[in-house]
Amino acid sequence: MQTLLVTGGAGFIGSNFVHYALENTDCRLVNLDKLTYAGSLSSLAGALQSPRHIFVRGAIQDRALVSRLLAQYQVDGVVHLAAESHVDRSIEGPGEFIATNIVGTFDLLESVRGYWHGLPPDRQAAFRFLHVSTDEVYGSLGPDGYFSETSRYAPNSPYAASKAAADFLVRAYFRTYGLPALITNCSNNYGPYQFPEKLIPLMLCNALAGKPLTVYGDGGNIRDWLYVRDHCSALFAVLTRGRPGETYNVGGNTERTNLQIVRCICDLLDELRPRHTGGSFHRLITFVKDRPGHDWRYAVDAAKLCRETGWAPRESFASGMNKTVWWYLEHQEWCEAVRAGSNRGEQAGV
Ligand code: NAD
Repeated sequence: MQTLLVTGGAGFIGSNFVHYALENTDCRLVNLDKLTYAGSLSSLAGALQSPRHIFVRGAIQDRALVSRLLAQYQVDGVVHLAAESHVDRSIEGPGEFIATNIVGTFDLLESVRGYWHGLPPDRQAAFRFLHVSTDEVYGSLGPDGYFSETSRYAPNSPYAASKAAADFLVRAYFRTYGLPALITNCSNNYGPYQFPEKLIPLMLCNALAGKPLTVYGDGGNIRDWLYVRDHCSALFAVLTRGRPGETYNVGGNTERTNLQIVRCICDLLDELRPRHTGGSFHRLITFVKDRPGHDWRYAVDAAKLCRETGWAPRESFASGMNKTVWWYLEHQEWCEAVRAGSNRGEQAGV
């Protein structure tokens, strides 16, 4: 794999993927990102100077631009991460989720299909289109069992439904046109560069600001958590060793209730900031009315990925959370910049 087009590479997972790829591979990356509120050039600090990283501000819906980038850089594969990704926002306004996650994925697939069709047979066979998706497409689990790659799709939020639709489009492009596409469905990620609207960075930022730590319902909803760098290594495992046409679940085998997550953050902050004067951070925990359609439990079985590619996560939940909390403590200016929307490219002229 020499040149990858990465979509959404200024977002949370995308920026981690760019850093990971520059550090661990010799790939060249063409990073296409629209720089919505969720994307920031400050997440690419250090990577922007690399000769192996070309950042382009633009939308996946712009077929002329995507076609030009594919041809100009002779792209060998696509890692598609660009999306609207926040469930609460999808409940308030689903339109952008349909436009980006469904129509945007369709536009991207059309551009890629045209380019791929014109490649010589050996490059066609080696080409990969990796669509990065979520375990939320499977809906909610009861107390037992895990989602497998053959679990029925039953999305419950507009976000999950839009990702499910995109998954089906990618599947159809493999079946219908032979585009060598693969899909990953991953559980909740955590780590550096996550926009402070998602559970872990939001709670961290609010705790440091002395604001209430609001938990939906009784905090009993369960998610499986994976350190973002382990997700990035899984994406490379699937790109290089996965079978086109297949779906791979990615997970950390680390189930926690939302309340356990918030308590873990408070414990770590109490330990790491012992001179904080306001007392234990636990006093800030507050329960609020549950989110509509709130899935109760997600848990994925990643056995197929481990068996076929040899992938395994490196971080334990304890070590991953420790790194994450340290990172946010040391990068509070990053949180302020992305919240203020002050590093979305205008100043950098892209
Ligand atoms: P994110 O919201 O942090 O980043 C999304 C990025 O996409 C942003 O940089 C944004 O500017 C960009 N973008 C949005 N619309 C675009 C468009 N039309 N054209 C080009 N760029 C556009 O999201 P994330 O958490 O990094 O998630 C990345 C992908 O991984 C998503 O597809 C998401 O569904 C999936 N995923 C996320 C998680 C998770 O826990 N965060 C888990 C499983 C799967």
